[in-house]
Amino acid sequence: MSDDKPVNEPLEYEGAEDIFEGKFSDIPFESPVNPVQLGLDDEFQFRCHPGISCFNECCRNTDIQLLPYDIIRLKNRKETTSYDFVARYTLPFQMDHHGMPGLKLRTRPGTRECVFLSEEGCTVYEDRPTACRYYALGSMGVRKKDSSTVEDMYFVVREPHCKGHEEPKTQTVGEYRKEQGVDKYDAMNREWRDIILKKRSSGPTVGAPSGRSLQLYDMCSYDMDKFREFIQTPGFTDIFDADVIGMDRLLEDEEALLAFAMRFLKQVLFGEMTIPQREGAREARLEQRRSRIQERREAGAGEEHVSSKAYDMPEGGDAEPKKD
Ligand code: SF4
Ligand code: SF4
Repeated sequence: MSDDKPVNEPLEYEGAEDIFEGKFSDIPFESPVNPVQLGLDDEFQFRCHPGISCFNECCRNTDIQLLPYDIIRLKNRKETTSYDFVARYTLPFQMDHHGMPGLKLRTRPGTRECVFLSEEGCTVYEDRPTACRYYALGSMGVRKKDSSTVEDMYFVVREPHCKGHEEPKTQTVGEYRKEQGVDKYDAMNREWRDIILKKRSSGPTVGAPSGRSLQLYDMCSYDMDKFREFIQTPGFTDIFDADVIGMDRLLEDEEALLAFAMRFLKQVLFGEMTIPQREGAREARLEQRRSRIQERREAGAGEEHVSSKAYDMPEGGDAEPKKD
């Protein structure tokens, strides 16, 4: 584990209304984004290389949202847990007015310089986040009205300090994505992005997510180590059969675990029941919950608290737990 401890204080970040996978989740009025929509076969002119005069300038002016697979790659790179990585290297922000939590990569105190930048360049290059791979492209997932599919859009981000746009090299978006190893990252993060878009487009008919839903969302998105522990707890295995869900594989394969976490999250948030439950598990759970609430009432505990223990199963859908 590295001992480079960033010490800048967390900042509240507001206003990211769209999920950009490039650096610019908050495009200012005078935007560096070239507003031309590109497809995979469209060409653009750009080349970045170590000999260029602006080398690493982009890493001194960052605003990088981290996605679930970024966290897995980076925490393994730093040989630490997801919890420790998030605490040491990220800052929380709200992705929407419902308080859906997002994470940004920290910068060095008083600057916008990435914590992973050294004199020699990026210290996590092989595991750099999605946004760094895309730059100087940005990408955006858009769900058209009345459509269930999400379309990928790309655009060029043109900042004055970046001289890569003057280099005489053209390539298609698809070629650039391949060169930067973006495909794997997008594949791993796609379900998560779809969840965010679906949550957002469901709007006021669904309402704000409950405290418990947010906890589950946070764990499934950013804390795979905690999620791995969670699926081994009796609260989980009483409901889901270890053989049916392929527990052994989930415990040793983090990519499979992330994919499963996204299915679980869809089950929790939208009631998409793709993970079979044990027979009678739902009824047993409801009964257990009733007894627990009754016990608390009798003990004078009053309100039901949402705690890490309350990571036990939600009902499917996004309702607050009933206090019956
Ligand atoms: S060309 Fe652009 S992306 Fe490459 S180092 Fe320079 S500023 Fe960064
Ligand atoms: S992670 Fe690496 S490539 Fe990305 S901004 Fe930081 S130093 Fe630059």
